[in-house]
Amino acid sequence: MQFSFVIGQEAVKEKLIASVNEKRLAHTQLFLGPEGSGALPLAIAFAQYVNCHNKKDGDSCGTCPSCIKYQKFAHPDLHFIFPTNTNDKVKKDPKSLLFTEEWREHLNETQGYADQNQWYEKLAIGNKQGTIYTRDADDVVKILGLKPYEAEYKVVIIYLAEKLMDQASNKLLKSLEEPPDKTLIILVAERYEMIIPTIRSRAQLVKVPRIPDEKIIQVLLKRFPDSIDESKAEDLAALVQGNWNMALNVVEFSGENEYNFITFREWMRLCFKPGDYFKLNTLIQELSRLGREKQKSFLTYGLNVIHSALLVNQKLEVKLIAGAEEKEYFKNFGPFVNNANSKEIYALLNDAVFHVERNANPGILFTHLSFRIIDLLKRGRVFAANAK
Ligand SMILES: [Zn+2]
Repeated sequence: MQFSFVIGQEAVKEKLIASVNEKRLAHTQLFLGPEGSGALPLAIAFAQYVNCHNKKDGDSCGTCPSCIKYQKFAHPDLHFIFPTNTNDKVKKDPKSLLFTEEWREHLNETQGYADQNQWYEKLAIGNKQGTIYTRDADDVVKILGLKPYEAEYKVVIIYLAEKLMDQASNKLLKSLEEPPDKTLIILVAERYEMIIPTIRSRAQLVKVPRIPDEKIIQVLLKRFPDSIDESKAEDLAALVQGNWNMALNVVEFSGENEYNFITFREWMRLCFKPGDYFKLNTLIQELSRLGREKQKSFLTYGLNVIHSALLVNQKLEVKLIAGAEEKEYFKNFGPFVNNANSKEIYALLNDAVFHVERNANPGILFTHLSFRIIDLLKRGRVFAANAK
């Protein structure tokens, strides 16, 4: 991760670079910034810079052997400690080192902008709290005792230091106070008041401010030139308050929602007036290729449509975040989802989510679903006609 990939934070970058160039690198630092400000990517970029063989123009080179490993978050002298808990894979004594692979995946997926909630979702720890345990602190002490494999500086990054158990914090104190030579320990945190004072006093504080709206707007326009215009970018920036992770989530959600809406409407249209089996088949094939998570999202959207249609039928308010066109659709589609079929359609879609999760053959699944829905919509149409 080069500094140039970190959004904004120019002043912090300059200070960090100066500390290296002027050879006054602090060995224990606390990067403190609100969620989505990029404190973690800054820490990684900083560590990459420190170890780059070919620093130039205020950034790491991105191409030397050290940078290449850093950019995969897989350098043998780069260690991460982060909150974990038990899940299906690790049923007891969880700790960071047991989840290195998942963590690397998460960093790759988020381009270094790890997100606490998404991380817990990925770990599938349910409602349990993510925690950094005494076992993790023991690992840090062990890691620090080893010589670096190949880098000039061995780096330990502790993500969400506020999740350190008190006992774990106490075990780390000596290491933070007097880390071995050529070691860099970076604590990354969002909540200063939740870190115990003895830890705070041992680390040099690097404050990472929230990203200014102008910067969020600028990057949104650059990254999503086809889907986001200036006014949408301004709305989004106002909404997310400098939280880049949140901005990405909203963009992704609205893109997916748009796709789901248009595709679901088309699917129902083809099932409502069957006859164009070529088009229906093409759509089924498209849905089959989506990938499991997207298929689940699509079917879940369908459940929401059925639910919304029923609400509209009863003249109740739809609570979904829905655009005007979408609401219009619920109103038009609503009458055909009624006592004659709503329960069955709902159950069908629900079962389909269940089967997608268990790796059902998607081609068969969507074909079967389509033919069942053709029948059910026929019933709904008869019911609606008689009700008039
Ligand atoms: Zn380099």
